[in-house]
Amino acid sequence: MRRQLIALQFADRALAAPHPNHAVVIEHGNAIGGQPHIALEAIRAEAASLDYAPSFQLSHPAAFELANRLAALFPGDLNHVFFCNSGSEAVDTALKIALAYHRAKGAGSRMRLIGRERGYHGVGFGGISVGGIGANRRAFLTLPGVDHLPHTYSPEHTRFQRGQPAWGAHLADDLERIIALHGPETIAAVIVEPLAGSTGVLPPPIGYLERLREITKRHGILLIFDEVITAFGRLGPFTAAERFGIQPDIIACAKALSNGAVPMGAAIASSEVHDAILDATAQGIEFFHGYTYTAHPLAVAAALATLDTFVEEDLLVRSAGLESFWIEAIHSLEGAPHVVDVRTLGLVAGIELQPMPGAPGERSMKLFQACFDKGLLVRSGTDIIALSPPLIISKQQIEEVVGRLRDLLPTL
Ligand code: PLP
Repeated sequence: MRRQLIALQFADRALAAPHPNHAVVIEHGNAIGGQPHIALEAIRAEAASLDYAPSFQLSHPAAFELANRLAALFPGDLNHVFFCNSGSEAVDTALKIALAYHRAKGAGSRMRLIGRERGYHGVGFGGISVGGIGANRRAFLTLPGVDHLPHTYSPEHTRFQRGQPAWGAHLADDLERIIALHGPETIAAVIVEPLAGSTGVLPPPIGYLERLREITKRHGILLIFDEVITAFGRLGPFTAAERFGIQPDIIACAKALSNGAVPMGAAIASSEVHDAILDATAQGIEFFHGYTYTAHPLAVAAALATLDTFVEEDLLVRSAGLESFWIEAIHSLEGAPHVVDVRTLGLVAGIELQPMPGAPGERSMKLFQACFDKGLLVRSGTDIIALSPPLIISKQQIEEVVGRLRDLLPTL
């Protein structure tokens, strides 16, 4: 059967999609749900008045309005927004801002970038280089001068833990080894997802991100959070940075920024980083970077409407209020056939399955297909199912999602 993908509607009703041909999106891309109502009118109105505006040397008023609203919402002095069109571009933009910052400060030798194993930062050359997924890197050239922290997943220590694992903060100390190996004067930035999403939902060990922040600061290295999944309330507060009480120097975001209605991403830099780059150039272009469709009017309209919805629907409060219900519901799948681990934080969950003998990834693909046939679009990795429900999901709908998974697991 061909299925039409739909987002959850605001009406607090059963998940049973309104039509048997529908599949409800329960993965990271359409972060809030509620479409088409959130942005439809705003996009339509904008398309009728301004369907394109260049963003080199100038921009249109709504782009400044959105940048100002985001600057007010992002924590601390993360006050400067560079718009782009995807999470991958947001990551590459953030990495280039980090390099430009050090050069502007007279520390042009700081060119190295440190990522993490099992990190996912999109598919640009920068993103796959700092990313830690072998399959995404192997077939392509990657940037020189990149090193990786170890990942933080250790099933024997963390299996079935709710929220952040108590074990693993010491893994951040590996950064000291990498810094000693290369020299701090060669390292520009460390980039991590605060919660590793695409490689199976790995919440950060308690104290881990704090240590990364302390070490990077001590060595003059920028800390970039890739919050393409976690920004905009996915973990309760507006950003994961606030959830963990850590101030990174740059945040990359996308997805919920425009709720997937029109592609959009952004890199948001601190005033310290921004001012250093701008102050270093007396005249002319300060930062040689930008996209033809940076701050595209339709994306800006979608993002402004999305931000309005956050306020009108009190989505951060809603997300935080649902976390414990979500976590308990998902963890009720412990003990279900083939489930070898369950990981949760905020409104995200990863369910790891026992691989089929000799066929890694096959079982999660079967679950993905079975879910789809039952009207649920989940994210499938290698024997991991990742779930990021729309923030407007209700408790009843959460129970239905979990109920469908419980029914399907024995059939795999
Ligand atoms: N960074 C993270 C953490 C992501 O989860 C993703 C996509 O899922 C990306 C970057 C890349 O975003 P995009 O697919 O919009 O390029």
